[in-house]
Amino acid sequence: MLKNKTALVTGSTSGIGLGIAKALASQSANIMLNGFGDVEGAKAEVAALGVQVGYHGADMSKPADIEAMMAAAAEQFGRVDILVNNAGIQYVAPIEQFPAERWDAIIAINLTSAFHTTRLALPAMQAAGWGRIINVASVHGLVASAQKSAYVAAKHGIVGLTKVTALENATNGVTCNAICPGWVLTPLVQKQVDAKAEALGISNEEAKRVLLAEKEPSLQFTTPEELGELAVFFCSAAANNVRGVAWQMDGGWTAQ
Ligand code: NAD
Repeated sequence: MLKNKTALVTGSTSGIGLGIAKALASQSANIMLNGFGDVEGAKAEVAALGVQVGYHGADMSKPADIEAMMAAAAEQFGRVDILVNNAGIQYVAPIEQFPAERWDAIIAINLTSAFHTTRLALPAMQAAGWGRIINVASVHGLVASAQKSAYVAAKHGIVGLTKVTALENATNGVTCNAICPGWVLTPLVQKQVDAKAEALGISNEEAKRVLLAEKEPSLQFTTPEELGELAVFFCSAAANNVRGVAWQMDGGWTAQ
């Protein structure tokens, strides 16, 4: 379905980003990866799907790095047809104890980076008459949880950015939508499971159950593979007129 298209997925060396990159690669899109950690492992997993794979190590908190990454993607693949703004970090503390530098980092990586990638990707998409921008927001783009001030602010912000991007392109072939996962068992969430296990003196498995039971009625984690399939749908012709939605995959979290 996506042959001869190129997808750039930020934060795609792990977790949800890697899941989305693999789902798009399964539809024959070439992939530009980004992120830290096990870069070679991520490249190998995507390359095994038979597509071309690039990588840029831009730090999403740095606008100059983002400009370099977008230029590198254009040079290697000609154009970015699908942009997935996924890179994100978390920090948990009450507002009065929240370190100012953590606030700045979360806003930069989880929100401002998407402004920069989007502004840089749009002109070529508009010229081509086709493009897909998918913002990985969160249930925290729609509702709040205590101790996550920066994250909730950034995710509500990216849902807003999604709507504006969709409206400004409503009469052309460029769509922009957000994905709002509930709990997904990635390294980002494993840290919160570990913290709960330690705070309550319980096992890892019990901590997972407690975490799910607090918020997610299905008592199941959403998987990166399921989120990848939603991204594939947003890229399909059936989604040509899906514009500006924030679509939950949250086991009923926000239905309550
Ligand atoms: P993860 O920690 O597994 O992956 C995060 C990715 O972002 C990694 O590839 C990491 O290297 C990259 N990254 C982090 N800081 C970066 C930076 N400064 N520059 C470039 N890359 C950077 O986390 P995840 O759970 O897969 O999260 C991915 C996205 O999904 C985030 O935006 C997160 O907020 C969102 N999300 C996650 C969950 C969940 O339950 N895991 C739920 C809702 C939304």
